[in-house]
Amino acid sequence: MAFTVFAASVMQETHTFSITPTTLDSFKACQFLQGPEIPKEMRGTRSEWGAIFALADELGWTLVHPLSAVAQPSGKVTAGAFARMLDIITSGLKTALPVNGVLLPLHGSMVAESHDDAEGEILKRMRALVGRDVPIAVSLDLHANATEEMAALADIIATYRTTPHTDMYEAAERAGRLLQRAMKGEIRPSVCLANRPVLSGLDRGRTIAGHGPMIDMLKMVRQAEAEEPGVLEIGVNAGYAWSDVPFTGPSVLVTGDGRKPAYKDLAERLAEYIWTTRGKDTVHLISMEETIRIAAERHEAGAGPLLIGDYTDNPGGGGHGDGTNLIRALIEAGIEDVVVGTMADPESAQAGLKAGVGAIVTIDLGGKIDPRFGGTPIRITGKVAAVSDGIYRRKGRFATGTTGTMGPSFLLDIGKVRIIVATYRTQIDDREQFRIYGVEPERVNVLACKAMNHFRADFEPMSRRLIYVDSGGICSLDYKQFPWTKLRRPIWPLDLG
Ligand SMILES: [Zn+2]
Repeated sequence: MAFTVFAASVMQETHTFSITPTTLDSFKACQFLQGPEIPKEMRGTRSEWGAIFALADELGWTLVHPLSAVAQPSGKVTAGAFARMLDIITSGLKTALPVNGVLLPLHGSMVAESHDDAEGEILKRMRALVGRDVPIAVSLDLHANATEEMAALADIIATYRTTPHTDMYEAAERAGRLLQRAMKGEIRPSVCLANRPVLSGLDRGRTIAGHGPMIDMLKMVRQAEAEEPGVLEIGVNAGYAWSDVPFTGPSVLVTGDGRKPAYKDLAERLAEYIWTTRGKDTVHLISMEETIRIAAERHEAGAGPLLIGDYTDNPGGGGHGDGTNLIRALIEAGIEDVVVGTMADPESAQAGLKAGVGAIVTIDLGGKIDPRFGGTPIRITGKVAAVSDGIYRRKGRFATGTTGTMGPSFLLDIGKVRIIVATYRTQIDDREQFRIYGVEPERVNVLACKAMNHFRADFEPMSRRLIYVDSGGICSLDYKQFPWTKLRRPIWPLDLG
């Protein structure tokens, strides 16, 4: 029997303390694909959509897919933008009815001005239209702040199992295959959730080091999946800490066949590990002074670049991406052969593009969004070494084959330091982001990246060393400095020891 499956995706991770709202234009700057544009762009990629189109081909689904929207992590999604996207999705579903199943790739940490639990609201609208009996499957980012509402409204939830996220395809594929079984009536799945009073945990979901709390947790979970009767899928969500909503934090989601108390017991048992491993991290941020000392160290020729993760200013985590503290320190210390990717500064990008390749420009770079975090603008004179539309197709292991854009941009060469000055806030996650400006990242002495985790998949293997600096950005690990009002309390590490 051939099924009709409705699929839609809206993804954004919301830093509720960021003063930059996420508007419809923020989505349009990143990804806003409607209807037939989606397969054109996403078919064949290692993304959730790549899996959905492959499953549709294999299983003979008729797919209806009105929207795939992605925005960079930033402040809350405006009420207008969220309403518009909900409207596209719900009218798409209404037109498609009756459907046999619903498959939604979501992030799980999106907050709208109008809804603390944006994904919960999307699910509520979907459920209201399809009724209780049509199965709804969801794939989630590993950094989802999963809610009881999401668990209650979805029948199936599959979460990524890697950070950097190199298994988006696999997560959607698992969700889709379970959906197929549910549509055939082989299973009647349900989801239950368990968490602990922890704001940030499970080593923030990192799996790349090959050890640490997330790795151990995933081992336990895979074993439980194999041993516990009826369990179909267990998701471990590390959560996204910079979100002032009641349900922020790590959680465990058990999808089981039928509704059995054993599933909840299992979720609770596994969630205990979130509590016992709180505070155990494989990554530690170092000071600016220590960073400069390491950058100045002698090293063997051909050893690869020193990789600096400008962790607290990473747009991929909600950072403004225009912090200047690290650049200022690298310039002042006279560190040789540095490339910085990327500085988000539309005004400066325009100035460079207007001047053109070869021109000398003087700009007040960065520090414009919220200079309380990451530093004030820095006046720089340099040469426009290369210009680009900022569009790149990923060749590394993170989201392979998908396209990203930094927007109209140029490479500013000030001698020892070169800086990508871009229109959009973009994290570094693929070497192509340097290559489009003629930079060979493997041959650079120091690569300073606005990045946290995902860049490690493509960059770490060719680097001589990876360090993380605290440059004072908004993705600070000093959670006590933020004005929490909605978060459930007490919670570790704000109140509990
Ligand atoms: Zn994530």
